[in-house]
Amino acid sequence: MRYNLVRKMDISNGPGVRVSVFMQGCTFHCKNCFNPETWDFKGGKEFTDDTIKGVLELCDKDYIKGLSILGGEPMHPTNIDGTTKLAKAFKEKYPKKDIWVWSGFNFEKDLKDKEVLKYIDVLVDGQYVDELHDPTLKWRGSSNQRVIDIKESLKNNKTVLLVK
Ligand code: SF4
Repeated sequence: MRYNLVRKMDISNGPGVRVSVFMQGCTFHCKNCFNPETWDFKGGKEFTDDTIKGVLELCDKDYIKGLSILGGEPMHPTNIDGTTKLAKAFKEKYPKKDIWVWSGFNFEKDLKDKEVLKYIDVLVDGQYVDELHDPTLKWRGSSNQRVIDIKESLKNNKTVLLVK
């Protein structure tokens, strides 16, 4: 699998100052996607154990609140193993920091049983729908997308939204 970019200080994707990893490859091709250069699965750079090591090193600062994983599509079958490995390694090293993930897939239908959810704190799910774009929304581009508290959702066996 491949990734597009690692941002070492990101204040736009999730709360606080974060490290962000943009995975490479997405088949959804949403109209007016914010990041179409991430669509091609052959673009970007190879995602390796060294990439994970480098990301973990960047996170080793008190002012880094957490890790954000975006795309591209982190949960596409091509990418989900790498996303899982990164999320697991991050949580083992930084149990008090949080992980936010953005995915075009649906939490209940596509992702609920995936191992990766064990390591994720917040999932913003659903494809971007240009007709539902709303610039006042926090952490998401269109009103169909949901900011889901994954820990609470798994604990209560129902979908719990972090932002209503
Ligand atoms: S799911 Fe995300 S990365 Fe993929 S096309 Fe839609 S907005 Fe772009």
